[in-house]
Amino acid sequence: MMHDQADEVFDRFHEECGVVGIYGHPEASNLAYLSLYALQHRGQESAGITSSNGQTLLTHKGMGLVADVFDEKLIRRLEGPSAIGQNRYSTAGSTAIKNSQPLLAKYTHGSLAIAHNGNLVNAEELRARLEASGSIFQSTVDTEVILHLIAASPAPTPIDRIIDALAQVRGAYSLVFLSEDHMIAARDPHGFRPLVLGRLKHAGHTGYVVASETCALDLIGAEYERDVQAGEILLFDAHGMTSHSPFPQKPSAQCIFEHVYFARPDSAIFGQNVYQARKAFGHQLAKESPVPADVVIPVPDSGTPAALGYAEESKLPFEMGLIRNHYIGRTFIEPQSSIRHFGVKVKLNALAEVLRGKRVVVVDDSIVRGTTSQKIVKMIRSAGASEVHLRISSPPTTGPCFYGVDTPTRRELIAATHSVEEICHYVTADSLAYLSEAGMYAGLNGQGNGYCDACFTGRYPLPLGSRPKGSQLPLFGEREQ
Ligand code: AMP
Repeated sequence: MMHDQADEVFDRFHEECGVVGIYGHPEASNLAYLSLYALQHRGQESAGITSSNGQTLLTHKGMGLVADVFDEKLIRRLEGPSAIGQNRYSTAGSTAIKNSQPLLAKYTHGSLAIAHNGNLVNAEELRARLEASGSIFQSTVDTEVILHLIAASPAPTPIDRIIDALAQVRGAYSLVFLSEDHMIAARDPHGFRPLVLGRLKHAGHTGYVVASETCALDLIGAEYERDVQAGEILLFDAHGMTSHSPFPQKPSAQCIFEHVYFARPDSAIFGQNVYQARKAFGHQLAKESPVPADVVIPVPDSGTPAALGYAEESKLPFEMGLIRNHYIGRTFIEPQSSIRHFGVKVKLNALAEVLRGKRVVVVDDSIVRGTTSQKIVKMIRSAGASEVHLRISSPPTTGPCFYGVDTPTRRELIAATHSVEEICHYVTADSLAYLSEAGMYAGLNGQGNGYCDACFTGRYPLPLGSRPKGSQLPLFGEREQ
């Protein structure tokens, strides 16, 4: 993919992240580090932690995986009883260290660090306005806009300054802030991205954790208390935890793609276990689109729970017909499309012993561009399968995400411009079927309300902001013409 100015803008809309905050524990930075480890699937591009020792904020961040960015010595240097962290994935234009988080600012009230999961839809307008009034930005991420708005707020208390700032931004945010003496967590009024609250017991004291997913709480031995509510702001300071809900209630728009693909199967997202949801998607898919076959195989790991559900429902044997190399990362994470194609071959190998002479149902969670699926179908066929039936445990992905999941432009989404029959032909499968929208919601216990499913339905809960006056940069939508 060509990288140009348009991509730079496009990138700002594409950040998948994991965030964590620990308050009131002597090993805060170590626990933040371990939490990021558990959230590694949410971002592999960069990782960072900021801690507070009560007087100063200490930060270390770097490009790459959590395990590569930190070592024991570095963690020990990040002293103090509170820490926030983030790991981040972004597309080609924004891979620079300057865009990695936590982002840090010093202003009249002290220091403030911020870690953000999600995308703001009016960041461009706000940025243009702030720059016109003298703000100088150090990064190209939309998150920095929030810091500038906080610094510009005349409100007397930290929580009011954050409320001031968040009242002006629109879009998706699950945020953690850290200052010398307090931590603040916030989730946008639509609740696009997940954020959970947990408690950490230590030597008779109770500390607090906020994290993108419950799998982070499990690893550090924290007890899940509840989800941070949409529109809720939590303040952690010497007095404990206080909850604020300053904004008018908005229609809930929780990201359904977390359940389809993004979250770890051992997490509870929006109150529901992800593994069970994916398995239920597989059951629904088998009910809707059965096919005479000998074996059901997943595209590991993303398709595994759904394939188990499909096999159970269709009473067909489940086998691992594709073996994954776990040590190379997800192909999706590779920013260059040339590596991406290569990645499928490095990532997966077909098992002829399982596939030879068989009518195979292969289950994956989604088709984005279709290139991976095509290679997989061809690989299964060359391993000797007599038929290859592709089943996808979500509806066709037809719309890009503006709220924090990395999807390419509409033009690159194969289902946006091609029928199921055409896609089937492209991926060279004998048959192809997607899960219906109703089937997906049946898999989520029929909870049809409260989700953002724009990537499948085109129903966007929040429109993108308009181009700021005088800006030469094309907006997202213009790239798609
Ligand atoms: P494609 O070749 O573009 O059709 O890639 C499809 C594969 O990408 C599927 O196996 C999905 O599991 C995976 N996938 C879908 N959405 C995402 C995403 N937002 N991030 C990473 N991988 C994804």
